[in-house]
Amino acid sequence: MLGAMQDWDLRVTRIVDHAARENGPRELVSRWADGSETRTNWAEIRHEALRMVQALRRLGIGPGDRIATLAMNHTRHLVSWYGAIGIGGILHTLNPRLFDDQLEYIVNHAEDRVLCYDAAFQPIVDRMRSRWPTVEHYICFDSAAQERHFEDWIAAEDGDAHWAGGDERDPCMLCYTSGTTGNPKGVLYEHRSTMLHAIASLQPAVFDFDATAVMLPVVPMFHAASWGLPWSGAACGVKFVFSAVNDPAVLCDLLHREGVTHAAGVPTVWLSMLQHLDATGEDLGKLRRVICGGSAMPRAMIARFEGMDIDVGHAWGMTETSPIGTTGSRPWNWDALSFEQRVDAKALQGRVPFGVELRCVDLDDPTKTLPRDGKTAGALQVRGPWVIKRYFKAEADAALSPEQWFDTGDVAVIHADGNLQLTDRTKDVIKSGGEWISSVELENAAVGHPAVAEAAAIGIAHPKWDERPILVVVRKPGAEVEAQDILGFLADKVAKWWLPDAVEFVDEIPHTGTGKISKKDLREQFRDYRLS
Ligand code: AMP
Repeated sequence: MLGAMQDWDLRVTRIVDHAARENGPRELVSRWADGSETRTNWAEIRHEALRMVQALRRLGIGPGDRIATLAMNHTRHLVSWYGAIGIGGILHTLNPRLFDDQLEYIVNHAEDRVLCYDAAFQPIVDRMRSRWPTVEHYICFDSAAQERHFEDWIAAEDGDAHWAGGDERDPCMLCYTSGTTGNPKGVLYEHRSTMLHAIASLQPAVFDFDATAVMLPVVPMFHAASWGLPWSGAACGVKFVFSAVNDPAVLCDLLHREGVTHAAGVPTVWLSMLQHLDATGEDLGKLRRVICGGSAMPRAMIARFEGMDIDVGHAWGMTETSPIGTTGSRPWNWDALSFEQRVDAKALQGRVPFGVELRCVDLDDPTKTLPRDGKTAGALQVRGPWVIKRYFKAEADAALSPEQWFDTGDVAVIHADGNLQLTDRTKDVIKSGGEWISSVELENAAVGHPAVAEAAAIGIAHPKWDERPILVVVRKPGAEVEAQDILGFLADKVAKWWLPDAVEFVDEIPHTGTGKISKKDLREQFRDYRLS
């Protein structure tokens, strides 16, 4: 017997319909790269997306086609998301910071037919055009100089159109992982997974917003769907404040003038914001909630925000998890914790919202699930309705087990209260004498030294111990520090047998296109290194 409730397909276009109907006049602001600002509202966003649907149809673009964007955060970019998905197409966000070879591979693999881009990325388009044979139409968001101008293109339409219908399991968005090894891999989000992710993000422990919220998503729209904010924010009817540049002075000014209450971004963004506050004596206005993830948020930064009465949500996620995995929700004993204990709890990677399941398994024997005891580290696995099943065009499922557990490549400890603590990447963990050494913990300890700008630990082959750690360090400009100083500094911070066998100083540590340390390149650099 079936139940007797209505059909209401979980299609993403329902979100913008709701936003326009229930919060139509709610404002959205774009601060453009040239310093100018434009304002629109949710009713207009929907109307313009419908115009784009008509304009795309006129170009012969239809269901299943891939429409790429190469753009920073602004309202035209947002319109293009709903427009591309509204024709039943697949929105594909491109990361402009990737290397040319990766951009070539990704666009060809995705077979993008349309590219909407910011004038700031014209040099990339000029360089790559001949290497992107599938792209038939180039549309520029903010300049009419060379290409079709987005506003003029959609202005020729009246918006009297309908969204394409379809199944809720149809794909709606494609996002490639940065990948520190091999070619980038495409994650193909569905209408249903995106809707469930958006609805789950309305749990207070995730972004904690409603229609009164003023949200500044510093996290770019090309990074894991800007953490799904363009969907969950629309579902709530928040006021969005978008900035096409991430300069802290510009962001701080916007925070004040627009009354921003919520913001989301990676730790480096907040680091430069806090330095800006130190230099100018400014404050953060009405900001009351900061979501931070993508890499670990330092404890000192969390303490500083919490000290300003700003609630920090330390989030962990991946492109493969849409990306919300954890968001730092409070454990049940929160009221009994002191300020320092609360900061300690938030310095971990956080607890899952309803809809995500986590477990750790033994690194050597993945059939063995590890206890949530706050000390046993293992391979972190995740499952849920917005977690990847199979990479785009891949033959085999990405999920490892019949129970759908996806191996994240992260090494973690889960605490008894469900709090997640990342300790390494599976490929980066160092095995010495049969025991695991966390490269991340060594690095975290090393960057606490006042003369260290950046540090990375890698394992070097060792005849007796299998592997031993070495620490690669970039000194702060003008700082004088030697290997012995660093080893002395680490001595009371990590176990004795974790202490690196050597400290090597370099001018620069290699990074990936998304700004993470590339251990693969670093290991390659130290391939012939011998421990004496
Ligand atoms: P990406 O798919 O590019 O967003 O990268 C996902 C990876 O970033 C995860 O598997 C983690 O290794 C790392 N990551 C994300 N959030 C955090 C966090 N809060 N702390 C430490 N690492 C993180």
